[in-house]
Amino acid sequence: MTIIDGKKVAADIRAELKVTIDKLKAEGKGVPGLVAILVGEDPASKVYVGMKEKACIEAGLYSKIDRLSSDTSELELLKLIEAYNNDEKIHGILVQLPLPKHINEDAIIEAISPTKDVDGFHPINVGKMVIGKETLYPCTPHGVVELLKRYDIETKGKHVVVVGRSNIVGKPVANMLLQKKAGANAVVTVVHSAAKDLASITKQADISIAAIGVPEFIKADMVKDDVVVIDVGVNRVEDSTKKSGYKLVGDVDYENVSKKSSFITPVPGGVGPMTIAMLLQNTYLAYLSLKNK
Ligand code: NDP
Repeated sequence: MTIIDGKKVAADIRAELKVTIDKLKAEGKGVPGLVAILVGEDPASKVYVGMKEKACIEAGLYSKIDRLSSDTSELELLKLIEAYNNDEKIHGILVQLPLPKHINEDAIIEAISPTKDVDGFHPINVGKMVIGKETLYPCTPHGVVELLKRYDIETKGKHVVVVGRSNIVGKPVANMLLQKKAGANAVVTVVHSAAKDLASITKQADISIAAIGVPEFIKADMVKDDVVVIDVGVNRVEDSTKKSGYKLVGDVDYENVSKKSSFITPVPGGVGPMTIAMLLQNTYLAYLSLKNK
C-alpha cells in the first residue's frame, strides 16, 4: 500500500512555480498577482486566507488580502470586484466563501471576470470544464486529478466512484475524470444521499473518491481489494488526548480501509495541501492567458 503524500506533491508544485516566477522576475516581466477578499470574521475562513497568502509570498506571487467587515453590502463587494477585474496587477480574484447571508454568492461569483476566476466557480469556466475545454479548474478537484497523475495511477477505463455531488468537489471531479483525454477517460459513477444500497456501488470502484463531510463514512466493507482511495473529507472530531481537544479525520475509515487499498490519501496531508498549490497554479495560468491576450 502506498500513502499518497499530498503535502510533498503540493510542495513540489509550489517549488516548480517559484522557479518559473523567479525567471519572470529576472526577465522583468512582472509577476502573477492574487487578491483574496474576506468578508466578515469566520475563523476558518481567516485561517484559509492566511495560508493562501503565505503560500503566495513563498512562491513569489504578488498577494493582497482585502478584509471587509461583515456588514459590507453586496453592491460594495460587486464594485470592488469590478475594480480588480480591471486591475492589471491582479490576475486572480478569490472571494472566500461562505459569504454573510445578505450577500448573494452566485451574483458575486458571476461578477468575477472568468479570466481571473482562480477558484473555477464561474458558470463560464464550469461550462468549459463540462465540455472538455481547457479552463481554470476548481482547485480541490484539480488537486485530486493532479495527485492521481503524479502517482502514475491509470484512470483510463477505470471505474471511479465519487461519493458526494457538491458543486465544489463531487460534480467537478466527476466531470474532469470522465473527459476523453490523458489523465482522465475514466468510467465515472456519482453517488449521494439518495443512493439505494450505496455500498454495492462503492464496492465496484477501482478508484474511490470520498467528498461527503461525514467522518470515516467509507468503511473497509464498502471497498474492494486494491482500491485507490482519495479522501477529500476534512472533519473535526473530539479527541481529549489533543491539546486542541479535537483531531482531523477524513470521510474514510483510514485505519481499516488502508489495509485493503493499493493507494490512499491520508487526512491531513493528502488532498488538503493540494488545494492551495492548485490555486497558485491557476493564478499563474490566468496571468499567462491575460498576458497573451
Ligand atoms: P457538501 O456538504 O457540499 O456535499 C456533501 C455531499 O455528500 C452531498 O452530495 C451529499 O449528498 C453527500 N452525502 C452526505 N451524507 C451522505 C450520506 N450519508 N450518504 C451518501 N452521500 C452523502 O460537502 P463538500 O463537497 O463541500 O465537502 C465534502 C468534504 O470535503 C467535507 O468534509 C469538506 O470539509 C471537504 N473539503 C475539503 C477540501 C480540501 O481542500 N481538502 C475542500 C472542500 C471540501 P446530497 O447531495 O444528497 O445532500
